[in-house]
Amino acid sequence: MSKLQPVRGTRDIFGPDARRFSHVVKVYQKIALAYGFEEISTPIFEFTDVFKRTLGETSDVVTKEMYSFADRSGEMLTLRPEYTAGIARAWMSGGLAQHGVMKLFAHGPMFRYERPQKGRYRQFHQLDAEIIGAAEPAADIELLALAWQLLCDLGISDEITLHLNSLGDSESRAAYRTALVDYFSDHEAKLSDDSRTRLHKNPMRILDSKDPGDRALLGDAPRISDYLNDLSKDFFGAVCEGVAALDIPYTHDERLVRGLDYYSHTAFEFITQALGSQGTVLGGGRYDGLIELMGGPSTPGVGWAAGIERLA
Ligand code: ATP
Ligand code: MG
Repeated sequence: MSKLQPVRGTRDIFGPDARRFSHVVKVYQKIALAYGFEEISTPIFEFTDVFKRTLGETSDVVTKEMYSFADRSGEMLTLRPEYTAGIARAWMSGGLAQHGVMKLFAHGPMFRYERPQKGRYRQFHQLDAEIIGAAEPAADIELLALAWQLLCDLGISDEITLHLNSLGDSESRAAYRTALVDYFSDHEAKLSDDSRTRLHKNPMRILDSKDPGDRALLGDAPRISDYLNDLSKDFFGAVCEGVAALDIPYTHDERLVRGLDYYSHTAFEFITQALGSQGTVLGGGRYDGLIELMGGPSTPGVGWAAGIERLA
C-alpha cells in the first residue's frame, strides 16, 4: 500500500541530515540575535489571499505551486510558500507597526508543489530575515552582511558569489516594462504559452522564465540598468558601495529579477557552484510596495530567505 510512503517531494530528516539541519539553524539563530534581530514565528497556513494578492497572479508560485484548500468551514487557506507575506501580515494584524523599524528572523517549513529533484522539495525549510520600516540602503547592506556572515560561519562562503541587481523604483520599472513589451511583442510567436500570458500582465516575469525558448530571447532583451532613474541609480550605488566595503564578492547580474512580484530596488541571490542547477542558496530583495499592496500604510521593507536543505 503506497500510503505508507512519504508524500512525493517530502522526506524524513534523520541522523547526519538532522544534525546538519539543526547546526544550520543554531548558527543562524546565534548570528541573527547578535545582529539585533528578533525571532518571530508565524502560522504555516494563511488565508489564500495573503499570498495570491502579494506574490503576483503570474508568478510561478501562485499559478502552479501553492498548496491551497478549503477548510471545513469553506475558508480558502494556503500552506505558506514563503515567509515575507505572512510576516508582513503579522506586522499589520499583530500591532507590530507601533514598534517602528523591526528586524525579524524566522525559520521553518515551506510548501510548494514543484517537480521534485535534488535540492528541490515540496516541503522544504527556510531561514528568513526581514527589516520592516527602513527605507535607506543601509538596511539592505545590513541584511547582506547578515547573510554573508551566516555563509562564512557555516564554512561555505568560498564557493559562493553574490549576484546583485537593481529593479529600480516604480517609475523606472514602468519605463522598463514598456521597453520589454515592445521587445517581446516582436518575438511573441517564439514565447512559451506562460510567457505570452506574462507579456501583458507582467513582462519582467519573462526574464525569470526557465523555458529554453524564452531564455534564447533574453540575450538581446533591453536591460533594466538603461532605464533606472537617478534616484534608483543612487540607491543601487550606495548598496554596491556598502557590499564592497564589507569585502563581499559580488557581480552585478542584470538578468536577476527574482520570482515574486513585490520587489523593487535591490534584488540579490547568493549562488554556489557546489550544487549544480539548484545553486541558489539564499535570495531576497527590497519590497517597498508590499505592505501598501496588502492594505496597510505605505511602509518600506527588505528581506531574504535561504533554503536550509541547500545550506546543509
Ligand atoms: P528557484 O529559482 O530555485 O525556484 P526561488 O526563486 O523560487 O528559487 P525563493 O522563493 O527565493 O526561491 O526561496 C529562497 C530560497 O529557498 C531559495 O534560494 C532556495 O535556497 C530555497 N528554495 C526555494 N524553493 C525550494 C524548494 N522547492 N526546495 C528546496 N529549497 C527551495
Ligand atoms: Mg521557485
